[in-house]
Amino acid sequence: MGKVWDILQEKDTVVLFDVDGTLTSYNYGEYHAHHELDFTPGFRDVNIYADCRRLTPLWEYIGEHGTERIFCISMEPHGHEAWKSEMLMRLYGIPGDHCFYTTDPDEKPLIAKRIIDTWFPGISPRKVVCVDDNDVTLGRYMKETGFCTAHPMIFMEHISRS
Ligand SMILES: [Mg+2]
Repeated sequence: MGKVWDILQEKDTVVLFDVDGTLTSYNYGEYHAHHELDFTPGFRDVNIYADCRRLTPLWEYIGEHGTERIFCISMEPHGHEAWKSEMLMRLYGIPGDHCFYTTDPDEKPLIAKRIIDTWFPGISPRKVVCVDDNDVTLGRYMKETGFCTAHPMIFMEHISRS
């Protein structure tokens, strides 16, 4: 039986969240999951985060856990960092200095290790959970860090049981 849900409930656990598809529903377009201007230069000028809604199970979890031990690691190749951070504060109360961005998703494990080394040196890797909806990224976290990993659906699974 998986232990990650129990670890997520412990108050001193540090949680590193992906953003797109984890703290947002990844439904940015009118008729598509991708915004219609994605893959075009014009996409840089579109704030896809302006009308994002909070995802209730994640919002309730973060509200209970507090944001001191919540961080975000997000791939952002479109220059949308400021809009994304504004959304994370507005919907979840996550401070801007807890949001980290990269253009290379392969760097996520390195960023995770840097965050932990900087903010929580010496913490047990079993007290850190990386949450991401991307299977390849979850595998990289598993191989390249000692941290626990979870797919965001874990929040849906447990909320629906209660
Ligand atoms: Mg994602």
